[in-house]
Amino acid sequence: MAAPRDEAGMSAYLSNETRKWQERAREVANRLVRPLAAKYDRLQEYPWEIKEGLAAAGLTGVWIPREYGGAGGSILDLCVIVEELSKACGGVGVLFAVNALGSFPLIVGGTEEQKKRYLPLIARGEKLVAFGLSEKYAGSDAGGMRMRAIESGKHYILNGEKKWNTNGGAADLYTVFAVTDPTSRSRRISAFIVEKGTPGFKIGKVEDKMGIRCVPVVELEADDCRVPAENLLGGKAGFGFKHAMMTLDRARPGVAAQGVGLAAGALEFAQVYANRRIQFGAKISSFQMIQQMLADMAMKVEAARQLVYASAWAVETEAPDTTKMAAMAKCFATDVAMEVTANAVQIFGGYGFMRDYPIEKYMRDAKITQIYEGTNQVQRMVIARNLIKEVGQLTHLESYIPVETQRGVNPEDLVAAEAVGQSS
Ligand SMILES: Cc1cc2nc3c(=O)[nH]c(=O)nc-3n(C[C@H](O)[C@H](O)[C@H](O)COP(=O)(O)OP(=O)(O)OC[C@H]3O[C@@H](n4cnc5c(N)ncnc54)[C@H](O)[C@@H]3O)c2cc1C
Repeated sequence: MAAPRDEAGMSAYLSNETRKWQERAREVANRLVRPLAAKYDRLQEYPWEIKEGLAAAGLTGVWIPREYGGAGGSILDLCVIVEELSKACGGVGVLFAVNALGSFPLIVGGTEEQKKRYLPLIARGEKLVAFGLSEKYAGSDAGGMRMRAIESGKHYILNGEKKWNTNGGAADLYTVFAVTDPTSRSRRISAFIVEKGTPGFKIGKVEDKMGIRCVPVVELEADDCRVPAENLLGGKAGFGFKHAMMTLDRARPGVAAQGVGLAAGALEFAQVYANRRIQFGAKISSFQMIQQMLADMAMKVEAARQLVYASAWAVETEAPDTTKMAAMAKCFATDVAMEVTANAVQIFGGYGFMRDYPIEKYMRDAKITQIYEGTNQVQRMVIARNLIKEVGQLTHLESYIPVETQRGVNPEDLVAAEAVGQSS
């Protein structure tokens, strides 16, 4: 079932290969995900039947290179799949995308042996994977983590806790970040591939969530957990934070795609409802204020989608502005998701607030996209820092901006004066 705008909208720019992934994901979403979305949201249980369907459709390995058993697809392929799944259920969009998040550290930083051992299993959907960076006292400031890993012969001994591990419990593999060198500023953290069942590795509290309820989010505990030294990511200590940041650059277009999917899915429901609901003897879709809301929603969804595609392209081509593009897409698309889903609830009126209607779930699922994989405040910091760095390439504009002269003022001194002002 093709959405009408596919003929004219951004999808027209996609390659045949990417469109095939999109169509396949849309088929699974409409056949399997949409009918089960409300059930698993209510139960807050992992939908194994959906996971099997995703694996059977060959979607689970799209982002994994062919030499490791995957389909060798692009980040854009991943994004269009995530959008289609999220359109039907935000939780399933995450459930799928989190396996990319968990396996990107292996792809960007794993040894050949590690990649050969784990990636084919993930590609076939036989092993699910989770990403363990955050802790209770280290969220936005992930580098301030406390989980410790100490080398001991052929093992590393892990002790500590992780918070908010998406896919935890369902997953078989965990990319866990821990401090290996507390004295180092730049090489403090390392990543480990921890297999479920490793002695001392436990699933702790299972969270009760506002949205994305079908995918588990848990605490992880490591209590003298002995991880074989060969599971140190990349075989060298001290590169964990770098690999985490590289992972987030690759994964953020996927979170943005979750946002686009949620917004697009909510917009479609709002279109249908507005054209059905009669008040004052007319369809509410004939009222200009409703039309304006729908038009604004549609513009923002399309703009967000375009930014997702552009950021996926930046990641794929290793463009110099990848970090900025990924942050912009994540921030913009997930802000759009929150705004559009809230407006879709508004168009449904009182019914929009009710759990037996499908729309309130979109708003609940959308909220987390503004928070995880770096809050949207953090994304704005990343974007701004990159903009300031780019000033070095804009020196040709300097001469067009007049420099004011004032007796007794040396412009060179102003920076220091301002810095003193800030610290006092
Ligand atoms: C449902 C869910 C799933 C998650 N899944 C995972 C996962 O799979 N793996 C994982 O590792 N983590 C995961 N996380 C963690 C998530 O990435 C963090 O919640 C997020 O990075 C924010 O950290 P925090 O919650 O500690 O908030 P804080 O860092 O405490 O932030 C609180 C507020 O302060 C703002 N803030 C913080 N620092 C600044 C600053 N310098 N300037 C301006 N504002 C600032 C934030 O934007 C936010 O509004 C998940 C979280 C949730 C809720």
